[in-house]
Amino acid sequence: MSNPYTGGCACGAIRYEISDEPIAMVDCQCRDCQVRSGTGHGSYLTFPSQQRVALTGEAKHWEIVADSGNVKTHSFCPVCGTPVYLTFAAMPDLFTVHAASLDDPGRYKPQMVTYGVRGRAWDHVDPALPKFDRMPPR
Ligand SMILES: [Zn+2]
Ligand SMILES: [Zn+2]
Repeated sequence: MSNPYTGGCACGAIRYEISDEPIAMVDCQCRDCQVRSGTGHGSYLTFPSQQRVALTGEAKHWEIVADSGNVKTHSFCPVCGTPVYLTFAAMPDLFTVHAASLDDPGRYKPQMVTYGVRGRAWDHVDPALPKFDRMPPR
């Protein structure tokens, strides 16, 4: 096993340690990610099992129905407001963190762009990445 992925919110109240490797690293340009992030896209690492995630601190949660129809639960720090992680009602094992919440954000290596159909001309993502209009086909 390589180094765990560690990170948390800006004030340190929420911390995670993930003893796993990400199964997906994605820049998402959907409308939810734009509004919630305040900029052109969100950047996420998704891990396969919540059983290998150690969390400390009490996050607050809110839910939204994604463009795909799936319910996403966003978890953020009630002290500093930082969005830290995400879970999915339809895929309850998965655990997704925001790339910038990593202690070492350099470990984020985006593999694809999702919801490119919603991308804005001013939001430049890596043109070498595969880009999907919505989600990649399964
Ligand atoms: Zn915080
Ligand atoms: Zn999105």
